[in-house]
Parts: sequence; C-alpha cells; structure tokens
Amino acid sequence: MIIFNKADALHTHLQQQKRENKKVGFVPTMGALHAGHLSLIEACKAENDVVVCSIFVNPTQFNNPEDFKHYPITIEKDIEALINAGCSILFLPSAEEIYPEGYITKHYDLGELENVLEGYYRPGHFQGVCQVVERLLQIVDPNNLYMGIKDYQQCMVVKKLITIMGREDIQLNLVTTMREKDGLAMSSRNMRLSGDQRDKALIIHKALSYIKNNINQKPFENLKQDAVNMLEQQGFKVDYVSISGAKSLEPIAQSDGQPAVALIAATIGEIRLIDNMLLN
Ligand code: AMP
Repeated sequence: MIIFNKADALHTHLQQQKRENKKVGFVPTMGALHAGHLSLIEACKAENDVVVCSIFVNPTQFNNPEDFKHYPITIEKDIEALINAGCSILFLPSAEEIYPEGYITKHYDLGELENVLEGYYRPGHFQGVCQVVERLLQIVDPNNLYMGIKDYQQCMVVKKLITIMGREDIQLNLVTTMREKDGLAMSSRNMRLSGDQRDKALIIHKALSYIKNNINQKPFENLKQDAVNMLEQQGFKVDYVSISGAKSLEPIAQSDGQPAVALIAATIGEIRLIDNMLLN
C-alpha cells in the first residue's frame, strides 16, 4: 500500500492509473477503522483495479467541538488493517492539504435533506460533508465511490452532491451496515462507550427491529413512541425516532406502500449514535 499525504501527488498518480485503463474505487473515512469500513474496502476491491481509502477527520462537519476533540484516532492500527484488507492507496492528508489557505468553501443547496433528521439536529453538518467530499472527489476522481447505508441520509446527500457537481459519471455504491453479533451497528464512536453504555446501546437495534416487526400491527405514532420509551428506559436522550420515505426521508404517518426506513439518533453519556433499518 502506498501512503500519500499530498493531494497533487495523489491526483497525478491516479490520473496516470486511469490513463492505463485502471478502474479507481474510493472509500472515504474518518479512520478508527472497524469491520464496517473494511466491508467497504472489500466491495471496492471486488470491482476496481485501484482501491483508494482516505482517512481525514474533517473538522468542518463537526457541529459539536467536543465530538471533534474526542473523535478516536487509531492510525497505526488503521494502516495495518488496510494493508491486510488489500487496499492499494491510503490518502492521509493534513487539514491544510484539504483546505489550503485561501480555499473558498461554497454553500450547497441540499433542499429539504438539510432540514430533516441529521440536517436538523446537526446544523451545518451536511455542508461540511459536501465540502470534504467534493474536495476528495476532485483529488481522487474515482470511477466508483463506496459509502455505508449506516449513514443513510449522508448517502442521499452525497448522491445530491454528485448531481450538483455534474459528476454523474462517478458511480455511488451503497454498502449494507455491518453489525456486531448482537445487532449493534459498528461505529467508530462505539469505542468511546463504557461497558455498561455498550450493553445499553443494543436498544437502538432492538427498537428498530421492534418497529420493523410491528409495522403492520400498530399506528406509526404508537410505534415511534414505544421506541422512544425503550431508548429512554436505557438512559438514552433521543433526538429522533422517525419512520420516513426511503427516497425522500419525509416522515410518513402510515403505511402507503412506498418503501420506508426507520431511523434513530440518540445519545448516551456524551456519545451520539445513529442507526436505521429498511422496513419493506
Ligand atoms: P466514517 O469513518 O464514520 O466517516 O465512515 C466512513 C464510511 O464507512 C461511511 O461511508 C460510513 O457510512 C461507512 N460505515 C460506517 N459504519 C459502517 C458500518 N457499520 N457498516 C458499513 N459501513 C459503515
């Protein structure tokens, strides 16, 4: 695996690879890698000649400075995991490399996506995501981009970004959520949970499964309230439990045949976790 710290050097290298008709796949991450990230690398490896992973903890997407300050960093372990997974290139830039002096960030018109769920509870978050992803896509210029459905709304935002950028030639590939044996969605933030919080965090998956299993049994309002109660009983502070249209993310009041997704964001101690489950 080659490690690049410089955007220009990486760009030049990858353009050469593309001229040689090599397919470039890209997995952007913030590091503290777990098996979920590695499943993206695996998917990327299966469909591309060159597998590029980036590790960059993007300051502009953190609406909570404490969350940024405590974001786990395990770079030595990450490098080892990427080598073992067969990653060809790691892009490990500094903040100055991504946002050089004088770099002008724009505002992205994300429409309603920015007003609901994560957009509402994390103001500015998706603008930060778009800033970093646009920059990374310009540098890497991949044929294929891999993102996890774990961050459901982020996938929709990036899809929109690709349209805004006029880069529909970049294929966005969505990868299913990798879970621990008991169902907890893998997340870098799980590393920050105490043993007790880790046990309690399982309630998120249980609440999503409860909604899915009872979707035709009870009105949606009752299902969501039951889920909130389940989370609160375990000590979670709930931002939202939503049953939304899988394409629009607009909340839906009752089953109307359209594909739906249940989404949860909740905080235990200082750790905010999100997860989701497709319902039909
Ligand atoms: P992050 O490092 O949290 O920015 O995540 C990098 C990529 O890995 C994003 O596309 C995430 O959606 C994806 N990802 C995070 N957790 C998981 C998981 N448990 N299963 C599959 N993909 C994941």
